[in-house]
Amino acid sequence: MMCGIWAFLGPNAGSYVVKVSPWLIHRGQEGVSFVCRINGSLIKLSNPLTTDSTLCLGHARYSTSGPYGVELQPIVLGNDFALVFNGTISNYIELVKRLRDLGVDVRTNYDALVLAHYMRELLTRRGIDGGVNELFHTLRGGYSIITIWKDSLIVVRDPWGIRPLAIGSDGNGIAIASETAALEALGMSWREVEPGKALVLRGSGREYWIEGPRVRRAHCALEYIYFLRPDSYFNGINVYETRRRLGMALACKETTHDVDFVSPIPETARVAAEAYASGIGKPIHDVVIKNRYVGRGFIKPPRERSADMYSVVKDAARGASIALVDDSIIRGDTLRKVLPKLRASGARAIHVRVSSPPIRYPCFMGMDFPTRRELVAHGRSIDEVRKYLGADSLIYLTVDELTNAIGTTELCTACFTGNYPFTINIDETEIAFASDRLWEP
Ligand code: SF4
Repeated sequence: MMCGIWAFLGPNAGSYVVKVSPWLIHRGQEGVSFVCRINGSLIKLSNPLTTDSTLCLGHARYSTSGPYGVELQPIVLGNDFALVFNGTISNYIELVKRLRDLGVDVRTNYDALVLAHYMRELLTRRGIDGGVNELFHTLRGGYSIITIWKDSLIVVRDPWGIRPLAIGSDGNGIAIASETAALEALGMSWREVEPGKALVLRGSGREYWIEGPRVRRAHCALEYIYFLRPDSYFNGINVYETRRRLGMALACKETTHDVDFVSPIPETARVAAEAYASGIGKPIHDVVIKNRYVGRGFIKPPRERSADMYSVVKDAARGASIALVDDSIIRGDTLRKVLPKLRASGARAIHVRVSSPPIRYPCFMGMDFPTRRELVAHGRSIDEVRKYLGADSLIYLTVDELTNAIGTTELCTACFTGNYPFTINIDETEIAFASDRLWEP
């Protein structure tokens, strides 16, 4: 699941983790919950603000496997293990079988629950160093994990560096969070957890690192394009600047500028749209207005995605030729709702510009589009997508333009290219993460 995760180790941990919540809520809107160690017990709480604890975990849920809308994290197993997790374990079915071989029967299609049982089993059988090492060598997927295990806090980032994770500190304690912006909001100094590394913090104050396998890094390109806050850093690269470069790259592709103004699809396309507008020398106007009180559309459960959260400024649209900038097109739901409204308002022409390449393959590493059939660009040419959306023209970035704009080749671009960071059978994995999520082992 694509989520926000965070933790605090130090006095007044409950108050710290509550303060972090608003800074990571954009990563998951199906629920926020916490676990704190209180008098030696791990207790799940909905609001630990005044809780007397020195160790708490927090989690904002956006599910990519298992049931929608159920607040299953933090996962607590017994009185010595709690886990929060951001990502997707692509080979969770293999882990179910491994657990069975160890005599543990876990019947679920929820990858985080499988991961929790698997990790606890490894820690119990092999100790922290051996268990984390085996975890690194047997998990496939994008994963950032924070675990309480007995008197230790264990922080793990996958070897490919697919998902973000950072550690911060101030005079009071140590915080871990999915995004650097959350740690800056607390006034902390921070550093990112390196891919393939695990930090072990002992209650005694001792800390040490465990190194996993070295593989080619593959940071999620869509984190830069869409998911992260613009004021966060991911693998040392500032997200805001990256989105500006993506917008400039889009502007460089233009040969004709027959538009009156540029409008972003709010909110995540705004930075790219501003750079694009400045690149083609046109003004930017907000002709599409998002109801900011209903949250992010893409990460909502399917039955809630149909809710209409966009309106248009009719007077501004009337008679205008508009360049509409979006950061990505996954299912096409947003544009399929917005374009007819602009047409009905009298827009003369609508030119869609996308600050990423066409998404043609599923993600099994943390984003919730696990099947090809739900992707508007799968099996369609760019012109067929244009017709499907009802746009007058449609321009995407190429993968090379994307890579140049982000400024690194250490990227996962699997949803654009079909080249995954590790060997994966797309047909079988699609079934394991089928959208109805009713798979039974
Ligand atoms: S497949 Fe796409 S969304 Fe998934 S990790 Fe790779 S770049 Fe990110």
